[in-house]
This record gives sequence, C-alpha cells and structure tokens, in this order.
Amino acid sequence: MAREDYETVIGLEVHAELSTKTKIFCSCPTEFGGKPNTHCCPVCMAMPGALPVLNEKVVEYAVKAGLATGCEIEKDSKNDRKNYFYPDLPKSYQISQFDKPLCKNGYVEIDTDEGRKKIGITRIHIEEDAGKLNHDDFGRGSLVDLNRAGVPLIEIVSEPDMRSVQEADKYLKKLKSILEYIEVSDCKMQEGSLRADVNISVRKKGAKEFGTRTEMKNMNSFKSITRALEYEIERQIEVVENGGKIEQETLRWDEVSGKTFSMRDKEDAQDYRYFPEPDLVAIRLSDEYIQNIKDNLPELPESRKERYIEEYKLTQKEARTITASKYLSDFFEKSVAICKNPKAVCNWLLSDVARIINEKELEDSEIPFTPEDMAELISLIEKGTISSKIAKDVLEIMFENPEKPSKIIEEKGLVQISDEGAIRAVVEKIIEQNPQSVSDLKGGRDRALGYLVGQAMKETKGKANPQMLNEMFKEIILK
Ligand code: ADP
Ligand code: ZN
Ligand code: MG
Repeated sequence: MAREDYETVIGLEVHAELSTKTKIFCSCPTEFGGKPNTHCCPVCMAMPGALPVLNEKVVEYAVKAGLATGCEIEKDSKNDRKNYFYPDLPKSYQISQFDKPLCKNGYVEIDTDEGRKKIGITRIHIEEDAGKLNHDDFGRGSLVDLNRAGVPLIEIVSEPDMRSVQEADKYLKKLKSILEYIEVSDCKMQEGSLRADVNISVRKKGAKEFGTRTEMKNMNSFKSITRALEYEIERQIEVVENGGKIEQETLRWDEVSGKTFSMRDKEDAQDYRYFPEPDLVAIRLSDEYIQNIKDNLPELPESRKERYIEEYKLTQKEARTITASKYLSDFFEKSVAICKNPKAVCNWLLSDVARIINEKELEDSEIPFTPEDMAELISLIEKGTISSKIAKDVLEIMFENPEKPSKIIEEKGLVQISDEGAIRAVVEKIIEQNPQSVSDLKGGRDRALGYLVGQAMKETKGKANPQMLNEMFKEIILK
C-alpha cells in the first residue's frame, strides 16, 4: 500500500504554566530563572510535615481556560496524588487531578482546507510542575533545582481528533492564542511555559479502530513538533508496511539526528497509584463564582477577528493572521489609534515586519520598537517626508537601533527631496546624460520614462519624490 492509503491520528496533551505570582500550594514566587533553589520553601521542597494550601488564582485561571474553550466546569472537584519516582519530584508524587478534573468536554475550532473543524478537549486539570535536573556542569552526577517545583500548570488534553501535522500545528497555535488572550499563561515556549506531549498513530484509511500510538513528551517548539510528527508518521507506516507492530511507548525526539528513540514503555494509570490528596480539601465552586468568571472573559481571538473585518475592513486572512497573536493584535490597535490607517499598519505588520521577525527568529513580543513608532513611520510616508522605499530602510534600522523614525530620518539625512528646484536640477542633469532615452520618450516609448525616473532615483540615493520626478520629466520633455 502507498503512503496515501494511511490516515494519521494525533492527540495532544498540552501543559501551560500559569502566570500566577505565587506557586500552587505555597507562597513562593513563580518567576522564571533565579539562582537554583532560591524560590523554595518547606512545602515545595517536600519537607516532612509541611502542608499544601491551594492557591485560589490557580482555580480561577483553570476555570477561565475551560470557559474560553467551551468546557463544562465541574463544580465538585478534587486533587489527587500521582505517584512516581523521579529525582526532580521531591515528594515522589505530583499533586494533580485524576477522575474529577475542573473542566471537561470542550473544543477549539481551527480553519482547515475543508472548512472549520472542532478539535475536542477531553479535559483540563490543574497540577504542579516538577523541578529541573541540571546534568551539565557537574561531572559526577546531576544537581536538582526546585525553583520550578510547585509552579502551577494546567494540562489540556485533546481528543484524538487531528488528522494531519497541519491540523496539530493549527490546534496548538489556536490554543496558545486563546491562553494568551485570557492572560492565564505567557505561553513562552522557549522558557517551557507551554509544552506538549504529542500522541500519534496511523491506520489504514477507512479503518474503524485507531492504531497503537506512541508519545513524545515535552515538545516545546512548533518546528520540532512538526518535524517529529513527520518523521514518526513515516516510521510507523514503514513498520506496518513491513508487517511489524507498533509498540505503545514513550519516544524521545532528537533534534540533531532528526529521529525518534525509544525511552520507556508506556505507563498506565494504574502504575501511578492515584489516590485523593488527603492534605487538601475538595474544591467546590458556586454557580455565581463560575458565572462571574464567564462574564469577565475578555474578547477572544475569534470575535476580535470578526471585529477587524467589520471595523477595519481587513480581509479574512489579514484579520486571522493579526489576531492569532495577542501581542501583534494589541500592537496593531495601538498603532491604528494613532495613525488612523488600519490598512497601512496591517500591511507593514504582515509584510516587512513579519519578514524581519522571521529572519531574526524573534517572537512578536520582541519587536524592539513601539506601536507609536510604527504609526509615526506611516504618517511620515503619508506626509511625503519619506518615500515608502526609504521607509523600508528606516524600518530595518528600527530593528537594529530602536529610535523614533523621525530621529533616524534626520540623523541619516533620509528626508525625501520634494523641493521643486532640487528636483528640477536632478531631472535636467539626467536629461543631459541620457539623450537616447529622451528621444525615445518623445517618440512615444513610455518605458523610457521609467528608466529616466530610475536614473534620477539612483542619483539621489532613493530620496527624490518619485511622483514629482515623473511629472517633471514629462513636463520638460513632452511639453
Ligand atoms: P495518557 O493520559 O495515559 O497519556 P490518554 O488516554 O488520556 O492517555 O490519552 C492521551 C492523549 O493521547 C490524548 O490527547 C488522546 O487524544 C491521545 N490519543 C489516545 N489514543 C490515541 C491514538 N490511538 N492515536 C493518537 N492519539 C491518541
Ligand atoms: Zn514554596
Ligand atoms: Mg500522556
């Protein structure tokens, strides 16, 4: 059978670190980094006798995430111990939620080639993060840093509803965008604030049953998720094609070799010996509590997109691309509020700004200049102070050395030449140097005009006002 005869099935378990100020069961700070073991106390270091107290903000953020993804909120919920041994887990169990998660049965909608598609969310539960092992600068073993132990997480488990790598990518991007909008997580993947366990299987098209799945844990970049999935799909199909069987196992994705390796057999729920956490009381939520969070949900990407089409007359695609990123979208709105030119701001953000961000491998939030600077750049073009060609150069400089565009233009002498006398002087010089083009233009060959304007632009290093050059050439040559 051929590659096209197989269907891919993907389900994601996404962990998002919540941006609460303090940890889930103690008042230590959640701040990223810091000297090892400085954000710790007896509770998160698991000293005997230390007792956890649930941070209410964690419940609020999880409920917020549930409501933003269409989940039912469980009014009676509880915490459970998930037991396993690993040196970064000081209690030898993780406080998580087993059979009564805070949220369940939701969905996230994505756009596919065949239209909108709902990806089911099985559940969202709260749990604590583990510490971190540092294997590197210590020859004879590993050192543990517990700063991250006890940082609150939500785990968002999807249904196995995705059917391609593209769908998985879109789902994760959409989910990230929703979490950013409701401001429960900063979703910084490079800092591990958002990471995904990726489950994947293949089956022959038309088959009723799912194939056996493998899982790759803790993936934290879109690029490696895509690469890992593509590799794993090929590997699984090949195994099946050669009459082999897929083992249910946890794999490790190796970025350097671009391959997956077996890590361990898959654990079952029973291996974790879940039981209710005896040191914490059950979580009971009132209708008013839930309703209040619902009433205060901010605008979500979907409705913001619709509003941009209405209010700013952006196209579907433009609106979708800008609103996918909360940062970019907020940036856009602030800029538009100043320069009142939504189309121009949109074009700059989606073309040149996006291109430079891509080249420099920056996140949107790392754009080094402000929405005010963007608005100023656009106004300078509108006023004719600079040409749009020069504006592109100014933008490049703004990324290197974030100063006000007006200041950059002044310092580098980039102001557009719109003085009639100066334009005339250039035009006369170019006419004198290019008699052939001049007679071509007189003879009706319009292309010669473009050439002459081009020469004048070159002469002025792109600073002459092209409109004025055009008119001046015509006036002198064709009069
Ligand atoms: P566990 O919690 O033990 O990892 P779950 O049954 O809760 O296992 O499933 C975890 C994830 O795996 C879910 O996101 C689910 O959608 C996905 N999944 C389950 N079965 C398959 C399968 N056959 N192929 C791909 N993904 C799957
Ligand atoms: Zn602590
Ligand atoms: Mg799993």
